[in-house]
Amino acid sequence: MTSPSLMLEPCAMEREVTSEVVECLLAEARAAHPRECCGILLGEGECITAMRPATNVHPSPETHFEIDPQALIDAHRAARQGGPQVLGYYHSHPNGRAEPSATDGAMAAGDGRMWLIVAGGSINGWKDAPSGFERLSLRVRPA
Ligand SMILES: [Zn+2]
Repeated sequence: MTSPSLMLEPCAMEREVTSEVVECLLAEARAAHPRECCGILLGEGECITAMRPATNVHPSPETHFEIDPQALIDAHRAARQGGPQVLGYYHSHPNGRAEPSATDGAMAAGDGRMWLIVAGGSINGWKDAPSGFERLSLRVRPA
């Protein structure tokens, strides 16, 4: 088995993602292609330990994504009731671009949550900071 390809850059803000989630994200993106997949990233602290795929309800899913609002409501409710925390969101870019698109920038909440963008077989970490997206480096935690 080959290890999943991740964008690794020297960065003070390092987050962790389990190898299981990495493989699920890559598989989701492949299955959704040529449409964008999307979903919610769950975990504790700085580590993503689970993901919840959601329906992409955007009318143009080849180039945009919108997480099914009910999936978001459910995830936030579960977190409030003691379940895993909502650490961020993921989606894929079928065009292979690792960077958030202009549309992503317009949708960003600036709430500090993580955005993972699956593109070209790799996973790219971003932080939705108030001043715009900042690159995050990710460390894969073995299963
Ligand atoms: Zn995007």
